[in-house]
Amino acid sequence: MASESFNPFKMAQQQFDAVAEKLGLDQATRDFLRTPCREYHFNIPIRMDDGSYKVYRGFRVQHSDARGPAKGGIRFHPQETIDTVKALAMWMTWKTAVVDIPLGGGKGGVICDPHNLSMREQEAICRGWVRQIARNVGPLQDVPAPDVMTTGQHMLWMLDEYETITGFKSPGFITGKPIGMGGSLARPEATGYGAIFTLREALKEKGIDIGKTTASFQGFGNVSQFAIDLYTQYGGKAIAVSSWDQKEQKSFTFRRKSGIDMKELLGITNRFGEIDRIKAVELGFEVLPGEDWIDQEVDILVPAALENQVNAQTAPQIHSSVKFIVEGANGPTTPEADEIIKKKNIWMIPDFLANAGGVTCSYFEQVQCNMNFFWTKEEVLTRLDNKMTEAYHATSELAQKRNVYMRDAAYMISISRVAEAVKMRGWV
Ligand code: GLU
Repeated sequence: MASESFNPFKMAQQQFDAVAEKLGLDQATRDFLRTPCREYHFNIPIRMDDGSYKVYRGFRVQHSDARGPAKGGIRFHPQETIDTVKALAMWMTWKTAVVDIPLGGGKGGVICDPHNLSMREQEAICRGWVRQIARNVGPLQDVPAPDVMTTGQHMLWMLDEYETITGFKSPGFITGKPIGMGGSLARPEATGYGAIFTLREALKEKGIDIGKTTASFQGFGNVSQFAIDLYTQYGGKAIAVSSWDQKEQKSFTFRRKSGIDMKELLGITNRFGEIDRIKAVELGFEVLPGEDWIDQEVDILVPAALENQVNAQTAPQIHSSVKFIVEGANGPTTPEADEIIKKKNIWMIPDFLANAGGVTCSYFEQVQCNMNFFWTKEEVLTRLDNKMTEAYHATSELAQKRNVYMRDAAYMISISRVAEAVKMRGWV
């Protein structure tokens, strides 16, 4: 989230500018790609359950549609800001480009806290969001999806409102829909599993047996839950995970050195990914301060919460045992922290590569909706694995060939692809 000292959009621009310079990109293309093509800000008036009225602020940013319709999630968060949404939209452009799917980058958000809203009020916000933006989104323009604190249910309400307005069934308008309602099997797993597919490849490349590794995770939302699931299925040992506590308004780290089992932990977790501290102690977990996920003696760190978590203050605390960082979240690491990580010689699998599994599966969801024919879970996961593996190796090869940081290599691939589309269309 943006604050006085941290602005994610400035960070996204800083990352872009550095690589644009390396690529020798011309000025017009730089000017075009360092800002969003379009951004919408609007009011969403809602009648609350108690009969009062409240006005929520909504956004949709379309950073780029050069390679296809804009694509990206919608976040519900009390600290949402337009600059966060702009940064996330830009990162979506690089994400769809690095896995080479025919989509652009967008993002949306509403400043609200679903913790304090009934389901009916949340439904009203979803429908209100669509009413404000229906003319400017759609299967051929801009396709939303779930993100922080939004789910398949929210997507379905949004789809229903869109179809009511247009008068047509348009399942390709939105992705991350529930199974049986136009959703794809394996979409819930896709982001977390995708991140672990890239980690698996990185470990293979470095000749490390995943079964002998340990990992610490930040966050216990959708991405982290499935990342832990697949990582442990592969034989890795997850020893720590942090999770937000709404009542305390801070996070805690749950550590069990004998290992974490995702399903067991899910049994004591609410729908927002908050782990019950008392029950965790009963299951043999130590409850530590939230920030302790980062200084654990492990091989792998997986920041899978929000942006600005690995920064100039926290990066020096990374234990000398850490060899890999897999960014499940969007923008968790600041450019200052990147410098520290480079010095520590840690292999970075950057966000828009590591967490591209979600949007890749969203693309498969659109394809299946267009065919009106749905694949088996195995088929979805095999295709996802192939895409992630291919994108990982293309990035890693470039990083090694040009001797650049993995984040820069991923940026070089994505920016080149988008810049080429912009040029070929004759835009700049
Ligand atoms: N919100 C997810 C992301 O940040 C998924 C986006 C999508 O499926 O369009 O990648």
